[in-house]
Amino acid sequence: MKLIETDVLVIGAGPAGSSTAKHAALNGAEVILMDKKSEIGSPKRCAEGVSKEGLKKLGIEPNSRWVTKELSGVRLISPNGTDVWMKEDQVKLPEAGYILERKVFDKFMAMDAARAGATIMIKTLARGMRKDHDGYIVSCESMGEDFEIKAKIVVGADGPESRVGRWGGLKTTVKPKNMESGIQFEMVGLEMEDPDVIEFYFGSVAPGGYAWIFPKGDDIANVGLGIVSTVTDKSAYEHIVEFVKNCPATQNAQPVELNVGGDPVGGMIKNLVKDNLMIVGDAAGHVNPLTGGGIITALEAGMYAGEVAAAAVKEDNYTEKRLKEYQEICKKEIGDSFDKYLKTKDYLLSLSDSDLDSIAAAFQDTEFENISTKELIKLLIKVSPKALLKLGKLF
Ligand SMILES: Cc1cc2nc3c(=O)[nH]c(=O)nc-3n(C[C@H](O)[C@H](O)[C@H](O)COP(=O)(O)OP(=O)(O)OC[C@H]3O[C@@H](n4cnc5c(N)ncnc54)[C@H](O)[C@@H]3O)c2cc1C
Repeated sequence: MKLIETDVLVIGAGPAGSSTAKHAALNGAEVILMDKKSEIGSPKRCAEGVSKEGLKKLGIEPNSRWVTKELSGVRLISPNGTDVWMKEDQVKLPEAGYILERKVFDKFMAMDAARAGATIMIKTLARGMRKDHDGYIVSCESMGEDFEIKAKIVVGADGPESRVGRWGGLKTTVKPKNMESGIQFEMVGLEMEDPDVIEFYFGSVAPGGYAWIFPKGDDIANVGLGIVSTVTDKSAYEHIVEFVKNCPATQNAQPVELNVGGDPVGGMIKNLVKDNLMIVGDAAGHVNPLTGGGIITALEAGMYAGEVAAAAVKEDNYTEKRLKEYQEICKKEIGDSFDKYLKTKDYLLSLSDSDLDSIAAAFQDTEFENISTKELIKLLIKVSPKALLKLGKLF
């Protein structure tokens, strides 16, 4: 059987994989980036929201080919319809951002990896792997042909249903209570109060998560929700149909796309490396447990993974001990804040609809100056004695 050899094999060309491949190649490693999809980025399983600050931190210039909407504010809606508006002309919103076209964005990220020197293999499925004394041999299939790739380092960037980590013996299983079921329609014909503002709906509309409307055009938006199946008897589909029927903005809108996917919101997985193996992105739990957002952290963790993988190649040292540098950077830059967000999420999920209505009413009476996820939590602690008790020491 054909055998291809490389330094680094990245399995999965989502944001995590493309970023890993780009940074490993930029730092001198020989890299293959593969994805089972015939079109990178499609179908999307994402509401496509990212913060401007996140892209800036990673040095990614916004491009009109993949930014569909620049946002100017946020609207939070409690179960009884009490809404809190935060608009950029009145409040500083450091995390305000863009709605992407992921089908284009993901391809652009893969193109960046190719320009950095990585070899891209589309429509190529990794089926399994076995340990070799100085690496892994991965069984692959592409267009009916079976072949193998031998790599000194394999990077599992294979998303929420990741298997690569498990193949290599890492404990990556996500408990059902930590896997949000996401469902979303891309819709046309919306009647939004302000099509430049993203909307979040809390409470029993989406048990275990929240519902969202992320605008992509004046009457176009991603309308979705995430639920945790252990806290509701209804399916995610039943919840979204009900939400669309009852929400004034979507009552007359029509779907042009349905997206379904899991979002691992249990925090970062403890061990991200083994000898010759790394995991990154959703596969590694690099998803903000509170917001469910994982694009920026996938890109960021990919950058760290790529840099450490390339350094390991230069040193000809692929041991768990050497690759642990990546795990430590991820813990410091991503994992530690995720622990706090996880506790905040657990607290928010303990609130009833009427608790959420009272908090929204208290927020309405508050003057904001600078609002980020962290500032919102601080505000929550200020208006709710129960939150002070549970979260006061964390923030
Ligand atoms: C409904 C929903 C809405 C979301 N909304 C947002 C949002 O608004 N903002 C945000 O930041 N995040 C959001 N997320 C999370 C975000 O989509 C993910 O965190 C992000 O895509 C993670 O990137 P990744 O590269 O780790 O994985 P993915 O983007 O899932 O990429 C993994 C890739 O691996 C490939 N693959 C898998 N197995 C194999 C194999 N065996 N062989 C070859 N290829 C393989 C897949 O084809 C895929 O292309 C949302 C998630 C869901 C489910």
